[in-house]
Amino acid sequence: MPGRLFDDNMYRFESPQPSYWEATAGRSHFDDAPLDDHESCDVAIIGGGYTGLSAALHLARDYHIDVRVLEAGHTGWGASGRNGGFCCMGGTGVHRQDLVRMCGLDKVREYYASQVDAVELVRDLAADEGIEYQSYGSAEVEVAHSPKAFERLQKDFELLTNKLGLQAEIVSADECRERYYDSTELYGALITRPAFGLHPLRYCLGLAGAANRHGARLHSHSQVIEWSKADDGQHRLSTTGGTLTAHKVIFACNGFIQEQLRSEFFGRTIPVISAIIVTRPLTEDELAAHRWSTEHPAINSRRILNYFRVLPDNRFLFGGRGDVRGTHSGEQQTYMHLEQKLRQVWPHWGHIDIDYRWHGLICMTATMCPSIGQLDDDDSIFFGFGYHGNGVNSATWVGKQLSDWIGKGREPVGLPAIIRGLSRKYPFPALRMSYLKFGIFVSRQLDRYG
Ligand SMILES: Cc1cc2nc3c(=O)[nH]c(=O)nc-3n(C[C@H](O)[C@H](O)[C@H](O)COP(=O)(O)OP(=O)(O)OC[C@H]3O[C@@H](n4cnc5c(N)ncnc54)[C@H](O)[C@@H]3O)c2cc1C
Repeated sequence: MPGRLFDDNMYRFESPQPSYWEATAGRSHFDDAPLDDHESCDVAIIGGGYTGLSAALHLARDYHIDVRVLEAGHTGWGASGRNGGFCCMGGTGVHRQDLVRMCGLDKVREYYASQVDAVELVRDLAADEGIEYQSYGSAEVEVAHSPKAFERLQKDFELLTNKLGLQAEIVSADECRERYYDSTELYGALITRPAFGLHPLRYCLGLAGAANRHGARLHSHSQVIEWSKADDGQHRLSTTGGTLTAHKVIFACNGFIQEQLRSEFFGRTIPVISAIIVTRPLTEDELAAHRWSTEHPAINSRRILNYFRVLPDNRFLFGGRGDVRGTHSGEQQTYMHLEQKLRQVWPHWGHIDIDYRWHGLICMTATMCPSIGQLDDDDSIFFGFGYHGNGVNSATWVGKQLSDWIGKGREPVGLPAIIRGLSRKYPFPALRMSYLKFGIFVSRQLDRYG
């Protein structure tokens, strides 16, 4: 398929991922029948993940705008239905200290304030709309994988608390063992708040249900295959089943972007595979073997990081970067590497069966920051993408900002400068996968030396 950087294996819209979330999401109560006619609306949204659904919910609920969402798979088919469920601060592709060096302290402070708001927005939406997303834990634990990494986390602690005014705590390795868990790779940790874990697909379907209840129309299995604009200024989105005509369009495809749909979006992102394995439920004795006693989601401090959490039914979720092609065999290798890594860091769990394995695409940009806005040369097109693997809060928040932008007819006040506007194009976009491979190689070497 033109306009895609990975193997077709990554874009099987007709098949759900064999994920733990799909197996435990329960039934959804909303109408998302495919588009099968020639219809029209005020705002059409391409992509039914958190960005698109949050925008649809806010447009319908807060502005009574006639909005429709076109989703290629089932609702929540993309990253929003298959992520790790970490609702935490983040969203950029560079380390905090480097972000300050790149953008300046004031801009980073402004950005982090929006990240705190974004976590709170998820919590508020769930409370307001009755979304049962299985909240778990109340902080994020960032575990140092080496003594040098712990020194970096200590500097981060100073930055977060003294300069950015955020809630953080630094914890020694011994204290980590007392409070959280023990493993072969633990040299202290940085604890940040607000943060918590959730069931990502339930949250996504909850957003969809709320959007639908407030009047948004959802169309699953409605992949946009052509996007044109007529002389009267109306957008025409064609799917295999029908066409949707709209005054405005929000492009919300993140890592699953089809670049050929609009030339303006070509070459601006590098999707990256992230993959997850989930064990069978661990017994109390097995948990005790690694002194596991926390509900908080956790990550390690590597540049090529791993993320992990114990789920409410005591299964262990372990995630990390995938291969660079997305083929079936690459996928199997990724799972093998994840299993090896899990066993290396938590050797007492070496014999535990893995019940679920799946993968998906996150999205990086050349500015290493999310990108949100309105096209300069067409003010009827809006976009939000590039959350660098941290979209539970970020994408939800971006969807709301886009809805306020459209609803009020002007840019939201205080949109952080570092995420505002279309991220720049990568130089020689055809070389993006080579950049990715090189980036992974360098990061791996740096991780090796702490
Ligand atoms: C394995 C994994 C683990 C992750 N873990 C975390 C985590 O723990 N915490 C966190 O904050 N973030 C995490 N992320 C990232 C997070 O899931 C994403 O940033 C977020 O879901 C992006 O939401 P979105 O709506 O922008 O994109 P998506 O949810 O990817 O939705 C985009 C949608 O666009 C649709 N689409 C594409 N092309 C078309 C078309 N032509 N027509 C119609 N529809 C189309 C796709 O089918 C897709 O469903 C993870 C991602 C992955 C893959």
